[in-house]
Amino acid sequence: MAHPSTPQPYKYTLAERLYLPLLSGMWVTLRHFIGNVFGRRKSYTIQYPEERRGYSPRFRGHHILTSRPDGSLRCVACFLCATACPAECIHIEAGEHPDVNIEKYPVVYDIDMLRCVFCGYCVDACPEEAIIMSNNYDMAFFDRASSIVTKDELQKPFTYDPAQLGYRPRYPEEDAQRAQAREQVRAGTLDLVAEARRRHGEAQDTSAASAS
Ligand code: SF4
Ligand code: SF4
Repeated sequence: MAHPSTPQPYKYTLAERLYLPLLSGMWVTLRHFIGNVFGRRKSYTIQYPEERRGYSPRFRGHHILTSRPDGSLRCVACFLCATACPAECIHIEAGEHPDVNIEKYPVVYDIDMLRCVFCGYCVDACPEEAIIMSNNYDMAFFDRASSIVTKDELQKPFTYDPAQLGYRPRYPEEDAQRAQAREQVRAGTLDLVAEARRRHGEAQDTSAASAS
């Protein structure tokens, strides 16, 4: 169709003049409202902070500096985490450790949480498993200075919960599951291909149910 040489003003229908098409949009909102209030559909709203969403054990939240059994930091101030950090938000100042086998320790270890992009590269880079991440996402700062968390805060974050660890180099519970699966394969009681198919089918069922 040729493009009109003169602009043609749009002609509104009577329904459009009366704003009736808006009603279909409002009906969708009302339908969801009624469904949620009277519990006819699954509500995805949670009552935070009393209620919390369960995140993956690999969730990358607030960092934790881990300790040796004697309570000293495992960090040997090698700067690998700071070098790997794409946001350049880790600041370390190294000091000489009295134990020559350890050599160095961090006199200062700060992370600027407002610059951090929670990529987990620092965890991947650390050769000592000295830095891991937690499932803690409660991070609110009222001024710029408090967003820079220090060594003491990282060692024992204020909501530190050992049961809520997040991204870390090793997952002992998964190691145990793998060891058990290997035993079952050896004993011939587990078919890995059939198991993978079963899980794939379950995942598809779950996604189909959530889409409907
Ligand atoms: S999670 Fe990523 S951005 Fe944050 S401190 Fe570690 S390496 Fe840097
Ligand atoms: S946290 Fe790990 S990578 Fe970073 S300085 Fe300490 S030992 Fe090195």
